Amino acid sequence: MKYTTEFRNNEVAQALLSHIRERSRKKARFMEFCGGHTVAIFRYGIRQLLPKNIEMISGPGCPVCVTATVDIDKAIALAQEKGVIITTFGDMLKVPGSKSSLQKARAAGADVRMVYSTLDALQIAKENPEKSVVFLGIGFETTAPTVAASILEAQETGVKNYYVLSQNKLSPPAIKAILQSGEVKLDGLICPGHVSAITGAQAWDFIAHDYRIPCVVAGFEPLDVLQCIDMLVEQVENKQARVEIAYRRGVAPEGNKIALDLMSQVYEPAPAQWRGFGVIPGSGLKIKKEYRQFDAEEKFEIKAAPVDDPKGCLCGEVLRGVNTPLDCKLFGKVCNPESPVGPCMVSSEGTCSAYFLYGGNAID
Ligand code: SF4
Repeated sequence: MKYTTEFRNNEVAQALLSHIRERSRKKARFMEFCGGHTVAIFRYGIRQLLPKNIEMISGPGCPVCVTATVDIDKAIALAQEKGVIITTFGDMLKVPGSKSSLQKARAAGADVRMVYSTLDALQIAKENPEKSVVFLGIGFETTAPTVAASILEAQETGVKNYYVLSQNKLSPPAIKAILQSGEVKLDGLICPGHVSAITGAQAWDFIAHDYRIPCVVAGFEPLDVLQCIDMLVEQVENKQARVEIAYRRGVAPEGNKIALDLMSQVYEPAPAQWRGFGVIPGSGLKIKKEYRQFDAEEKFEIKAAPVDDPKGCLCGEVLRGVNTPLDCKLFGKVCNPESPVGPCMVSSEGTCSAYFLYGGNAID
């Protein structure tokens, strides 16, 4: 199978690991921003294979996890409006809001439908002209262009009952917030492959330039991750700080111009609330005035007040890399994938879920 088996080759993995072990001398802490990398690192046991002087920590790159409770409450409030169909990706259904979840709202009679793409949501709007169909725009730069494309498609085809609750977020401001806070000292960053396919590797230049931290963009197969760590080690050992790409088959330095143009046509940067961070300036995507007829915030009066995270849940700290799930007293006891307390246990890309499924307690 092209692009899968080649990147899981055992001999190449052993060679990369030997290379890392031979050259890595300094203590180094690397953060993977992306939840997809967190899962790959756990699934393939990469943490356990690395030399002891390399510490891996997980970052905030799980879009479901960073969605603030108030934003989930907004979606649930919308689901309870008469004549509204909520469409969303599956991971969002079980995420707890302050009092309920979309799954519970659906069980209580709300029309909440799981979709696989924004075009599915648009199709539902076309098939239900008497209803208002709202798509929950959750995700980073990877999904934002597809949401923007659905808005343009709705405009072009004259669909008047399609709305987007725009909760898409931009990744670089979150990394900047982590680096500026100084809460965790990082020696290297594994930059997100899928996000970088849109933004280009150049989006991370500020990390190397302003913070002197090595960055390598990685894919999601085990060899991608090992190659990325090998390249980070090289920079750390040589006291370098630059942005490199270990995922050339997916990422170009300048990114995907068509996707970036789509985003800038439909959206403008705006402040956004992140779980664990509060409001990060310029990290959200607001639908521009020209497309406001598709903006759910314009169409509906959505009432939801900010609330604290569930008592005892450390999702915010886990997302900032300050704590691991093992620091949370609820982990594996009160909180598990069947009965999640926080979103980091719900999402398939959540750090708590990865620890639970792949035995994080065996390694810390
Ligand atoms: Fe939150 Fe559960 Fe993770 Fe604890 S284990 S931080 S309660 S999601």
